[in-house]
Amino acid sequence: MIPAQFDYQVANTLEEAVALLAQDPDGAKVLAGGHSLIPAMKLRLAQPQLLVDIARIKSLAYIREEGDQILIGATTTHYEIESSELLRRMCPLLPECAASIGDVQVRNKGTIGGSLAHSDPAGDWPAAALALNAELVVLGSNGERVINADDFFVDLLTTALTPGEILREIRLTRPPTGFGQAYQKVPHPASGFAVAGVAVNLVLGADHACQSASVGITGVASKAYRAKGVEAALKAKQLDDQTIASAASHAGDGVDPNSDLFASGEYRCHLARIHTRRAIQTATERAG
Ligand SMILES: Cc1cc2nc3c(=O)[nH]c(=O)nc-3n(C[C@H](O)[C@H](O)[C@H](O)COP(=O)(O)OP(=O)(O)OC[C@H]3O[C@@H](n4cnc5c(N)ncnc54)[C@H](O)[C@@H]3O)c2cc1C
Repeated sequence: MIPAQFDYQVANTLEEAVALLAQDPDGAKVLAGGHSLIPAMKLRLAQPQLLVDIARIKSLAYIREEGDQILIGATTTHYEIESSELLRRMCPLLPECAASIGDVQVRNKGTIGGSLAHSDPAGDWPAAALALNAELVVLGSNGERVINADDFFVDLLTTALTPGEILREIRLTRPPTGFGQAYQKVPHPASGFAVAGVAVNLVLGADHACQSASVGITGVASKAYRAKGVEAALKAKQLDDQTIASAASHAGDGVDPNSDLFASGEYRCHLARIHTRRAIQTATERAG
């Protein structure tokens, strides 16, 4: 319950943070909200030599519209997203997802960037990032690169970030007319983490047929994933109850589900199917 010894540095700018990490890319770690890293350090699952605190870099916390894009800074907290009027209007999946995370304390300190970079198999943001086809902008001493959410989550607690890189921004394309979104989740009763969580982002055409659908699922496997079988079964269809139920039955296709004391893999897949159906139904009702 007591972390191993470590050094601590506050970065005041993004450039300073990158330079501090570059001194020891394998031994240093970014500290944002600390709501995943500090517990891991107390359990000695993580033993960084140096913590580089980015929580006070003001230019990393923002939500803004630029052209047809929505930009979110990495240290924007769950609460700031939950309470953003702009996001409620333009991308309501994000506030809905944020509101489902943990409790008030967690939402006040935890950040979207920290959650994505942590890639917890039961974290909520990875499902939303996948469903929204988010682009993740990362910065390291070799410069900046943009990673699609589909390529970002590599495995359990593992992302495409390389040592010394900082996730600095989440970029989304503004949803077009006819979009509908929903997040459905079965929370673990103690922590709120997703036993199964499903994010749906779809677009209906003027004829009410499904033009596109993206479905991100978390809590079920070692990392969040796109439910491609569900998406394919919705494309170009009228989304009546039977089509939705049949599409949702593919929510666990090709997945090696996690089992633990709380829920078996089979039960997690069952929850994913049920909540995929509910999330598609809700997104369809909201579309237009
Ligand atoms: C009691 C409790 C309940 C919770 N319930 C939920 C829940 O229901 N749903 C959910 O999704 N989460 C939940 N969480 C986790 C919470 O959302 C965390 O805030 C989040 O997972 C990590 O964000 P953070 O800002 O705290 O990151 P930190 O803990 O500071 O960092 C996490 C990891 O990401 C790295 N990192 C952080 N920011 C960056 C960055 N910008 N670039 C590169 N690397 C970075 C760190 O080095 C570290 O490895 C819960 C946590 C607690 C303690």
